[in-house]
Amino acid sequence: MICCSHSIPVAKLRGVPGAENAFIISGWSWLRQGLLAAILQSRKDISRLEDYLEAIYNLNEEKGYVSAADISERLAVKPPTVSNMVRNLADKGYLEHKRYRGMRLTASGERIAKSVIKRHQVISELISMLGVDDQTAYIDTEGIEHHVHPSTLRRFERLAEYLRENPRTLKALRDFIER
Ligand code: CA
Repeated sequence: MICCSHSIPVAKLRGVPGAENAFIISGWSWLRQGLLAAILQSRKDISRLEDYLEAIYNLNEEKGYVSAADISERLAVKPPTVSNMVRNLADKGYLEHKRYRGMRLTASGERIAKSVIKRHQVISELISMLGVDDQTAYIDTEGIEHHVHPSTLRRFERLAEYLRENPRTLKALRDFIER
């Protein structure tokens, strides 16, 4: 972690997902590792948060009701961990949890969930088009979806659109990749 005595919050790392909580440290390169560790930790926290919101949204769509046990099963996480995270998400204003009545996302929780789902769809489609097998595509998408910058996503989306509309180009590209 960052050494606190010299760390000063100078600026946000614009556009780096998860960097909002990180500090830029007075330009000393030897502290870069601390910065990197902070960004990675922050990204990990955001990834986890997004996965929960995504799972809750999807479960609600599928079943119309979401319990902690459902989330535990969907994310393969132990129930006490789910309870902590649900409390955390409620504190942050992303969901409402009523005893015996399950939980539902607030508008801001739903906005994040839909954003992750959209990222998932775009990345998954593009890398599947490039010939990545289903299982690898799923695993990679689950990772990339949390870190992709909106402008990169937009370009992925446009590329997928272009390839969808131009099957001959897609075929030539696939032939080239697999040659
Ligand atoms: Ca996910």
